[in-house]
Amino acid sequence: MRRPVIAGNWKMHGSRAGNADLVAPIVEAVRGGLPCEVLVFPPYVFLPQVLEQAADSGLGVGAQNVSDRSSGAYTGEVSAAMLADVGASHVLVGHSERRALYGEDDATVAAKFAAALSAGLTPILCVGETRDERESGRTESVVARQLAAVIEAVGARDLGRGLLAYEPVWAIGTGLTATPEQAQAVHAFLREEIARRDATIGNSLRILYGGSVKADNAATLFACEDVDGGLVGGASLKPEEFLAICRAAA
Ligand code: PEP
Repeated sequence: MRRPVIAGNWKMHGSRAGNADLVAPIVEAVRGGLPCEVLVFPPYVFLPQVLEQAADSGLGVGAQNVSDRSSGAYTGEVSAAMLADVGASHVLVGHSERRALYGEDDATVAAKFAAALSAGLTPILCVGETRDERESGRTESVVARQLAAVIEAVGARDLGRGLLAYEPVWAIGTGLTATPEQAQAVHAFLREEIARRDATIGNSLRILYGGSVKADNAATLFACEDVDGGLVGGASLKPEEFLAICRAAA
């Protein structure tokens, strides 16, 4: 049984006042019991604030990015050890916005995944194809390549210390959602890719779906056999909707 995970990626949104209003109802709901593990990913500067609000509630707090370096003259970077030091438990690596807008290639993403593990963080590896790649029949080869880079760096067993998120780029922030059939097909493919290296990890790794998950499409996506929850962007900024998505993970 893979316990579902719902992860809210706030992207570059938030303010001290707004975060307090957003997190309070989530903390209350987590304390009351939800059918899934719940994680939020605020911008770096708000991590201490959100960690304080979430303290001892069961709500997990992670970062949206991490450096692939451990320390030194890397102006503007934040290391995995620093994130662990302030109390973050998780980190996103390889989000398509990082890959497309900030030039992160597969090797950098793999190095970030390894850095996160070294500091005791749980990385969430994001993979996904663009619209062009899907339309030219390359979805499987793209996600297999993105996944293989991390497996080559850390091994299949250590991949299992993280989580995987399938996020078709064409569905992120666009209102276009993969159909449950499309999501299930890619999740099953990814699970198979992992299982042929390590059957135990293939079966146990939690694979989240991301891409315009909303309260009204969450239940059908989460009902798919190989979909173990969601990575939620826009809808994670609305507490009512985010909690409706969490409840749909039952
Ligand atoms: C994301 O940011 O990872 C994401 C899936 O965004 P959205 O839910 O807004 O499509």
